[in-house]
Amino acid sequence: MFTLDTSLISNLAGLSPLASEFDLDLLLLKALEKKGLSLEESAKLLAIDGKNNPAQLEKLLQTAGKLKRDIYGNRLVLFAPLYISDYCVNDCEYCGFHCRNQQMKRTRLTQDQVRLETGHIIRMGHKRILLESGEHPENSIDYVCDAIKTIYSTKVGNGEIRRVNVNIAATSIDNYRKLKDIGIGTYQLFQETYHKPTYERLHKGPKADYSRQITAHERAFEAGLDDYGMGVLFGLYDYKFEVLALLSHARYMEETHGVGPHTISVPRFQPAPGVVYSSDFPVSDVEFLKLIAVIRLSLPYTGMIISTRESPEIRKKAFEIGISQTSAASKTSPCGYSGANPLDNGGNIGQTNKQFELSDHRSVDEIVENICSQDMLPSFCTACYRSKRTGETFMKLAKAGNIHYLCHPNAILTFKEFLEDYATEKTKKTGEATITRELERIETDERKQETKIRLKRIEDGERDLFF
Ligand code: SF4
Ligand code: SF4
Repeated sequence: MFTLDTSLISNLAGLSPLASEFDLDLLLLKALEKKGLSLEESAKLLAIDGKNNPAQLEKLLQTAGKLKRDIYGNRLVLFAPLYISDYCVNDCEYCGFHCRNQQMKRTRLTQDQVRLETGHIIRMGHKRILLESGEHPENSIDYVCDAIKTIYSTKVGNGEIRRVNVNIAATSIDNYRKLKDIGIGTYQLFQETYHKPTYERLHKGPKADYSRQITAHERAFEAGLDDYGMGVLFGLYDYKFEVLALLSHARYMEETHGVGPHTISVPRFQPAPGVVYSSDFPVSDVEFLKLIAVIRLSLPYTGMIISTRESPEIRKKAFEIGISQTSAASKTSPCGYSGANPLDNGGNIGQTNKQFELSDHRSVDEIVENICSQDMLPSFCTACYRSKRTGETFMKLAKAGNIHYLCHPNAILTFKEFLEDYATEKTKKTGEATITRELERIETDERKQETKIRLKRIEDGERDLFF
């Protein structure tokens, strides 16, 4: 089981930046070989003082952007979170759902409400949901599995959810097996902070068990969930320590179990109603972009996720330097999409029971249009999950550089579905121009022709076509 070498990580987090520009250039060239970086090399990049040495920071960001485009192209996968219950027995200082929060009227969705919320998410154009729930006896694994079944069975017009990723509390191997059997995509769990004294200070309840949290991915893996995501909540402790600990954990998983994390998420602490905690280690925008770039270069084949906690401006920059997946038009409370909270008389929802505040309130349509204008390609692809290309199978394809040949045409096809079924006229126009542009970027004539044929089939009413 993974144990963090805290003194090694603390020492590395205190390293000075590289002494010469030449050494920095060499290190960035090495990163472009896509073999990842040692912890010490990552620490040297994290030590760059972006405020006083913006030229070095810019070099780092540019290199991360280049590596991202080499591996992921210009695609950006979209999803929506769905909170099914805000009941929680834990007292996490930074979270609006903490059990001492008396301002909150708690909600646990019925299966009908799960269907209603899913319908709203489908009508926005999403194909992926990230299911989230507090930890509570009422939110049993069977309840979670029933909700997943409900989500998969909900159809609205041409729309459906094709992949449910799950972010629920650390649990047992038996419970993880149930998630595996029901057919989830990625199981996400964040360590929140790898710094044990900080972790123990900020948590009360079953989640306060640092060891339970840090070993959960291995239990999930043992249950067959080889598609897993990691993350920390930036702002709880020194970001350099957190990044290096996260990289160390990811490397351990790859070396011990043969598969590294499918995704790494980079949430930054945001205030929430009923939360008095304020960050002792705030991460500035410059530091935030730097850490995304360093993770991108250190783990080239791991997807990176950003949420709508971040502003449109920061998200735009982050998309360019490392992020490959993003939530869009999120609500962070149960019944947040439909507003149909029976406990709330319709007035209060979204005001007092949010897990955290959001900074990006744009619709999916607006976000999609902005992504197109950024010379990027929105994707609603779920093909790997549907083709059982997960875990080791996925990583082999990715590392051989072959995933791009699937992702790019699949992004075009799923984006076409979005344009046909959900886009406004304005976005449809921008989107069609984007598809024309992206077709020209498909590298082989054969794949380009087949993509064109499938685009026509989508126009004629077929759905769910993928490579
Ligand atoms: Fe509960 Fe999760 Fe919030 Fe902690 S972070 S209070 S476990 S919902
Ligand atoms: Fe993700 Fe696979 Fe689709 Fe690529 S082809 S975007 S890796 S699901």
